[in-house]
This record gives sequence, C-alpha cells and structure tokens, in this order.
Amino acid sequence: MTVSAVDRLYLRSAIRLAEKGLFSVTTNNPRVGCLLVKSGHIIGQGWHREDGGPHAEIDALSNSIEDPCGSTAYISLEPCCWEGRTPPCTTALIEAGIARAVIAARDPHPRVAGGGVRALLDAGIEVTEENLSEETDALNPGPLMRGENNRPFVRIKTAISIDGRTAMADGQSRWITGEEARADAQYWRARSAAIITGVGTVIADDPKLNVRDQRYGNAKPLRVVVDTRGRTPRDAALFGEKGRIAIACAKGVVPINRAEMWEQQVGPAIDLAMLLETLSDQGCNEVLVEAGATLNASFLGQGLWDEMIVYIAPRLMGDTARPLAALGFTGMDEAISTTVKSIDTLGPDLRIVLTP
Ligand SMILES: [Zn+2]
Repeated sequence: MTVSAVDRLYLRSAIRLAEKGLFSVTTNNPRVGCLLVKSGHIIGQGWHREDGGPHAEIDALSNSIEDPCGSTAYISLEPCCWEGRTPPCTTALIEAGIARAVIAARDPHPRVAGGGVRALLDAGIEVTEENLSEETDALNPGPLMRGENNRPFVRIKTAISIDGRTAMADGQSRWITGEEARADAQYWRARSAAIITGVGTVIADDPKLNVRDQRYGNAKPLRVVVDTRGRTPRDAALFGEKGRIAIACAKGVVPINRAEMWEQQVGPAIDLAMLLETLSDQGCNEVLVEAGATLNASFLGQGLWDEMIVYIAPRLMGDTARPLAALGFTGMDEAISTTVKSIDTLGPDLRIVLTP
C-alpha cells in the first residue's frame, strides 16, 4: 500500500512526538515517536521520553485510550526487533494486534536494518514505508554516526568576531556575542550527550558548561576536559555545577572524583579519535566541542567533525587576538573547505551552520 496524504500527516506528527525527546534522550537510543490511529481517530501517542526509558511504541501502546487491536501505528523509525534493555517493540506491536504499521525511515542500526519491518510482515502486519530519512536523520545524527563510524556526531561551537577571532591575546573571550547567540548556544548544549573542552579554556574562561535555560528541562550533558598534564584547577567553576565531569587524559576518560588518576600526570597528546570512540562506547550520541584554538584545530585538522556552529559578532578584535583554530597552514592547498548549511541573524550577531 502506498503512503497517502493522511499517512504523511500522521507520520509528521510521529516525528514531532520524537522531537519531544530532543533534550532527554541523548545517549544510546534514537529519539522516536509513535502514533496509534483507529477508525480515523488518534487513540495513542508515545515517544521515547528519557534515556533508558520505554521505547515510543511501548509508550503509545500503554497510553492508548482504546484497545489498539486493529489500529495503524505511525512510527518515526523502524521498530526494534532485538532484546536490548527492553523487549523488542516488534513483539509488543504484534501482541497488541496492530493491523498496519507506517514507518518514516529504516533504522540503520545493524541489529535492526530491515529486521523490524520483516518481523512485522512475518506476523501478517501490513507495512508501509515512507522515506522521510532527511527529517529523522536530523533528529538522530548521533546513532547514525555511531553505527557508521563508531563515534558520536561531533559539533564544534565557536563564537568569533567578524575578523575571525575568538579571544584576546591574554585569553579573555567572554561576551563576544550578544544575549540571543548565547541563549541559542544553550540549545546545542542541551541536545548533546557530552561537551568537550580543553584545559586551556577552563583556565582562561572558567566556564560552567552547563544548561541554564529551563526550556531544556533537566539536560545535564557530561562535561569532558581534555587535559594531558593534569592542569585542571580543582576550584574551577565547572565543579560547582551539578552533573558528571570527566578528564580526558592518557589514562582515558577518567571521572573527576578519581583525581589521583589524572592529577600531575604528563602524558602524550590525547588521541581524539580514541576519546570519541570511548564516548560512543558510553552511549554518547551527539557531542559539542566548545574549545579554544588548539583543540579546535585538532578536531578540524583530523576531520573529526560533522557540523560547526559559528556565531559571528560584528566587531573587530584585531590581529593579536586568538584565531578560531590554530591550524598553522602555510599553503592554500591545506585550507579546509566547508559548506554553508544555514545562516541566521540572532540579535546583533550571525549564526552560520557549516558542514564538512
Ligand atoms: Zn523499540
């Protein structure tokens, strides 16, 4: 059966439901929404509400105001078909007597990848697939990247002057951009599983790297300080905020309370690919890099990035100020080319989103 205009409408609603998990589903699972429709009425709505919680399909079935037997399930992503921390959703849908499933995109996870659709078909459920993967991918770039490259989706966030500078020569970098841009930055933090910064930034700026905006609920991304020589000050503002903190050092990603493992040690430069792999193994879907010129250059230079959020303030900071990335290029052939995904005005500033 082909996808009707009504199907598409319900599928979009399922995607909107999935979006409700944007700030609470940041590790392991993708954000998914599910809508149950029977005789032209919505009888159940569900979404993956929080990390480790029930999947969207289970949520919709348990919230259903009528017997879901004979209904159509609109799901933003192919249902899972394997026993993870929760039983497979395909089993729940089959047992509930769903007559038809309309799916917005296949789940590329190697343990699903068409298996969910097959399980439903085998049980005699009619399955209709629409390809809205552009929308669902934007919602779940993390699980996708982890599946393909064994690392989280990496965003680099930076605020620069119109002459491309991020901080004065002495390291001062506060308030380059206006309130709107700073408020926007909270959104990117809130949807991330982890925020990575360098010890240089911690020493110079003493950032909290927390989510203050109440609109994003209780988002508490893991904060990771890349620190090869154990220089993170024990009285850094970071420690005054609730949430997990870890130090990335030669010994790996060490929780902050294991100070003896990272303090005063001298190790080689951190292998960022390894750091990202570790974070992926810990379930981190999207990470945000909020760092200075050195760490930015490492991520950019090694091609370990997927999106760059650049806030540009209409001010000049001069040529002694610090650049966005200390890449040390000498020839034009070394230049890193990017593609502009979007440009927006935020108060007095611009926000440019770039992709590699
Ligand atoms: Zn599931």
